[in-house]
Amino acid sequence: MHDTGLLLRALAFAAERHSRQRREDAAASPYINHPIALADVLANEGRVVDVVVLSAAMLHDTIEDTGTTADELAHHFGARIAAIVVEVSDDPRLDKATRKLRQIEHAPHLSPEAKLVKLADKICNLRDLLASPPVHWPLQRQQAYFDWSAQVIAGLRGVHAPLEALFDAVYARRRDLR
Ligand code: ZN
Repeated sequence: MHDTGLLLRALAFAAERHSRQRREDAAASPYINHPIALADVLANEGRVVDVVVLSAAMLHDTIEDTGTTADELAHHFGARIAAIVVEVSDDPRLDKATRKLRQIEHAPHLSPEAKLVKLADKICNLRDLLASPPVHWPLQRQQAYFDWSAQVIAGLRGVHAPLEALFDAVYARRRDLR
């Protein structure tokens, strides 16, 4: 099926671009596990069927983390998917603190598709923090990440109630951080 083909092309592209990258958890998991988890949450927990959103989720960190350009994404996957990935990518010219502030400020202005990707990203990141936090992150840094994520999500509510409920459920486990 055409849609499945597009999604698998996005997966293959992201897997290749992230191939030398690892997560910061104790197991140093392959980075591609993260984009796959986003698409899984969107499709199977959020019941999102739009292959444009699912493909953008698969590709969501390629600009920010692998030097892939928006033009490349547009060439391979079309302007719509490229635009969503650009929307959810931080501006590399900004320092880390400013990037975090910008995410809070930009959340209300994202397209509905980008809001879904952002929701899934935060759900997955908080779940990962609970299950297997980065080895060098003290508790305080994990708590700060939880609170910043909640601020970002506060700005995009009203887009998808079930996914927002999934975010709230994982945020409620903040006390389980260790
Ligand atoms: Zn991500």
